[in-house]
Amino acid sequence: MQLDVAIIGLGPAGASAAIIAAQYANKAGQKTGMRVVCFEKKAVPGHPVQCAEFIPAMLDAGDLVMSETSVQRIHEMITYVESDTPDLTKNFSGHMIDRRAFDAALVAKAQAAGAKCTFGVKLKSVGQDGTLVFSDGQKVQAKTIIGADGPHSLIGKAIGCVNSDIVETRQLSTVLRKPYTATDIYLSNEFPGGYGWMFPKGDVANIGLGVYPAQKHLLKPALENLHARIAATGQVGTEVTGYTGGAIPVGGMLKPCGVLGGTQVLLAGDAAGLTNPITGAGIAAAVMSGRLAGEALAAYLAGEADAIEIYAEDLQDLFGASLARAVLRRKQLFAAGAPQGKLSKLELCGGWIAYEDYWRPFDLKTDAA
Ligand SMILES: Cc1cc2nc3c(=O)[nH]c(=O)nc-3n(C[C@H](O)[C@H](O)[C@H](O)COP(=O)(O)OP(=O)(O)OC[C@H]3O[C@@H](n4cnc5c(N)ncnc54)[C@H](O)[C@@H]3O)c2cc1C
Repeated sequence: MQLDVAIIGLGPAGASAAIIAAQYANKAGQKTGMRVVCFEKKAVPGHPVQCAEFIPAMLDAGDLVMSETSVQRIHEMITYVESDTPDLTKNFSGHMIDRRAFDAALVAKAQAAGAKCTFGVKLKSVGQDGTLVFSDGQKVQAKTIIGADGPHSLIGKAIGCVNSDIVETRQLSTVLRKPYTATDIYLSNEFPGGYGWMFPKGDVANIGLGVYPAQKHLLKPALENLHARIAATGQVGTEVTGYTGGAIPVGGMLKPCGVLGGTQVLLAGDAAGLTNPITGAGIAAAVMSGRLAGEALAAYLAGEADAIEIYAEDLQDLFGASLARAVLRRKQLFAAGAPQGKLSKLELCGGWIAYEDYWRPFDLKTDAA
């Protein structure tokens, strides 16, 4: 099969890219005949969910998909540092979404725009000439490819851009006993390389944590402890209604473009390392980068050769500074003894967005050294 745009992965990045690319292909009066085809290994869009489902306010508040799938608003963040009295951050706003519905709504928009979306089809290999081989045996050649296939992207690997730093996570869902509008954050040496969270979603609480991959064995007992600690306050139930987890890229932005034979390749979302390495938030960046990638490939196919370079520049402008700061703070936490669980309270706070110290100016060259 010969395609114009092949999109691998239909999470927020891939579906957002598909909407824009397909809209371009079908623009009234501009029948390009361009074919946009998406391949997703999951049988059902957005299922199973691997997410704590919080979107900070940075995603366009007018975004239809977000407002349709928002379960509740968030207004504040409360940070617990070890077992001290918690600190309140006011005006920390965002939405708790139904992530399955969110992903499915984006896919429905892509289909409505004319993108062909195939499910239950896994990309197995990527040739250096750009040939894509899928689990159902089909071989595909495309003029352009968008790798939106998440943290362990095969497309990224093919162009030499790999998320080598990741955090492993585990999350459970339980009953939230009374309405709550804050995201609770737990900073502790018990969670080396990550943090604990409790996010309220209507009558559900998502409780989870992340750690360095080498400390993955801590996930289960540490999550049990965190759940027990929160349940002891009466805020949430003791029963567990579901578990999830997954990898979060924390190494910062990768080069988001490359070439395979005659095929132009772009990466978006987690595949491009756009998730914030400190907070783990990546939905908004996935949507924004997906839209930009769709736009860039449409422009590229229309003859604008510099569209690819502009895409890389746009990502740098949008996410470069915040990702660089977060990567640096992770490095500093590592150097201060995070893997050994040796961080002081001051160091724990300096590595979290609620505290002024996190936002102190930095010089990448001298501070990272
Ligand atoms: C436990 C957990 C909690 C999180 N909580 C939050 C949160 O509260 N807020 C937030 O903003 N971010 C959160 N994140 C991060 C967020 O989920 C990601 O940043 C976001 O999903 C990135 O979107 P994406 O489209 O780039 O990748 P994904 O959502 O990972 O989508 C990639 C898609 O590609 C498909 N795919 C992968 N490989 C192949 C293949 N070989 N063939 C075909 N299809 C393939 C996958 O099935 C998937 O559907 C969390 C992550 C985890 C693991």
